[in-house]
Amino acid sequence: MQCSCGRKAVYHRRYSGQHLCARCFRRMVEKKFMETVRSNGFIAHTDTVACGVSGGKDSLVLLHLLHGLQKKVRFSLFALAIDEGIAGYRDRSLPYVTKACETLGVPLHVRSFKESFGYALDEVTAMKERVGACSYCGVFRRSLLNSASRELGATKLALGHNLDDESQVILMNMLRGDFARFGRMGTYRKHVNDQFVPRIKPLREIPEKEIVLYAVLAGIDFDFEECPYAPEAFRDEVRQFLNTTEEGHPGTKHALLRTYDKLYPFLNEALQPSVLPSCERCGEPSIRPLCKKCELLDAIRDGLARDDQS
Ligand SMILES: [Zn+2]
Ligand SMILES: [Zn+2]
Repeated sequence: MQCSCGRKAVYHRRYSGQHLCARCFRRMVEKKFMETVRSNGFIAHTDTVACGVSGGKDSLVLLHLLHGLQKKVRFSLFALAIDEGIAGYRDRSLPYVTKACETLGVPLHVRSFKESFGYALDEVTAMKERVGACSYCGVFRRSLLNSASRELGATKLALGHNLDDESQVILMNMLRGDFARFGRMGTYRKHVNDQFVPRIKPLREIPEKEIVLYAVLAGIDFDFEECPYAPEAFRDEVRQFLNTTEEGHPGTKHALLRTYDKLYPFLNEALQPSVLPSCERCGEPSIRPLCKKCELLDAIRDGLARDDQS
């Protein structure tokens, strides 16, 4: 098959019916990224953007694209990596982050769970009474990404969530009836707390497999390994369902995201408090008096104490 430019096609984009050569494919991904940034007003020249990086394909492609965007919009950019303390995983993926930042000349900051909270994730998951690793990890990572971005002077926090991630979470929240969380997934949030660094997701309209192909074609070296802690089963089922549906009906994931985006202004209006309070203990934005991170830290301290006694 040939690309419309006459070169040999490397990718069949089923949801648009296009066959694309390597060059046109890369341009198409870059254009989609630019359109998402522009149409949502994600980045202005006055912004300092913290790019959350893990060493995986999504965050390194995002860093690469943000760095390219700096030629057009003169914002400041730095990378922020979180070391959860997962032996054999994060210590292996961080070198990919270091290498990418050195190649692009983007400053890198690393924050660890151990230094910030007193516990590495492996210590927490070794406890006898525990909830899933992903619950701790997700809460701690979100909290640390926000506080570190703020302390480092960022005005936006860019995350590498792709179309597959976004459509999975939309459907999961809907199927669980988690209306509050369902209402918090949109691209724009009212200014509700000074301590909150607004999050932007410039890859939200790009499918996962296009991110992988872009990384390969652009020569971006990334860590293929998945986190050793098993993902929750429900997410896997939703992922499989969406992939099967997309296979039979190309464009399904985009349609789900578009539906959500149309609903979002109403959800935002109905669900967003005009002011989001701060946690009484740590000062981070939180709906409840004690934030989820502080609550989990208490549970970990108690759990570890009980383990010591037994
Ligand atoms: Zn072409
Ligand atoms: Zn707190």
